Amino acid sequence: MIPAAFDYVAPTTVEDALAALAQYGDEAKIIAGGQSLLPVLRMRLNAPEWIIDLGKIESLRGIRDDGDAIAIGAMTPHTVVGSDPLVAEHAALITAAVEHIADAQVRHRGTFGGALAHADPAGDLGAPALALGASFVIAGPGGTRTVEADDFFVDLFETAIGEDEILTEVRIPKHTGWGAHHEKFVRLAHQWPIVAVAATVRLEGDTIAEARIGLTNMGSTPLRARASEAALAGQSISGDAVRTAAAQAADGTNPPSDLNGAASYRSHLATVLTRRAVLAAAGG
Ligand SMILES: Cc1cc2nc3c(=O)[nH]c(=O)nc-3n(C[C@H](O)[C@H](O)[C@H](O)COP(=O)(O)OP(=O)(O)OC[C@H]3O[C@@H](n4cnc5c(N)ncnc54)[C@H](O)[C@@H]3O)c2cc1C
Repeated sequence: MIPAAFDYVAPTTVEDALAALAQYGDEAKIIAGGQSLLPVLRMRLNAPEWIIDLGKIESLRGIRDDGDAIAIGAMTPHTVVGSDPLVAEHAALITAAVEHIADAQVRHRGTFGGALAHADPAGDLGAPALALGASFVIAGPGGTRTVEADDFFVDLFETAIGEDEILTEVRIPKHTGWGAHHEKFVRLAHQWPIVAVAATVRLEGDTIAEARIGLTNMGSTPLRARASEAALAGQSISGDAVRTAAAQAADGTNPPSDLNGAASYRSHLATVLTRRAVLAAAGG
């Protein structure tokens, strides 16, 4: 279907984009890569009168070393994030997850910030961002603020970004030397995950000193498998210890039931995928 008619602006600075948002208010929608917004417009699930395109704002693109973190501009395409050596070295879990997003076309157009701002509970980036303790830099009429990952994902397709605000950058604390693995369960290649698990571990010898695990599609927002994380700390990388810890992966989650699987099936998947992801992250 063809979207309803809209007017279009493409500002070249964040300030101008914020001014356009302030001017058009509820009648405006930001577009980044358009990979989630355009299908919504085509299905006429939303019909904004104004589209504000962030594509010409150069300051929103790129990846830089920011001391103890890697800073990723919101408009940086998935392909760039997925092939960036800084991200691979200091946030390997992001590299692993980006590889699993859809197909090459979507990864070329879709953006890191757009995917996180969209907050699809089946999106592949929320769980690794949460597991790595990312922080989100948000610009608005009153200036810039930073929101921690634990407070960023509010509900289904809802984040802490206000209607008059723009996500400008995502800061990922460096996890240099940590092993990382992303397990995504799909029925067909390139699908959204039925469940996915993002795991990263810091080893001391053969012992898991720390583990961070993010779950996708186990609730209305990305979640941490905190019981498994706690159970893994101090354990040796033996199949049995990891299996016992992974059995708690679904604790405290609220997975949906749909045509892809019942909630109980997703809970089971979470335990299996957590075991696989942790073992792979630990090099086992
Ligand atoms: C066929 C297909 C398959 C896909 N499969 C997967 C998959 O397997 N896994 C996965 O994770 N994703 C998948 N995606 C989605 C893809 O990752 C998109 O890139 C992502 O969801 C949206 O990013 P975007 O840059 O295209 O944002 P857009 O579609 O342009 O915007 C999405 C939403 O975020 C808002 N927004 C965008 N940027 C900002 C910003 N900087 N500040 C504030 N609000 C903003 C927009 O207003 C809009 O509401 C798929 C998409 C398609 C079309």
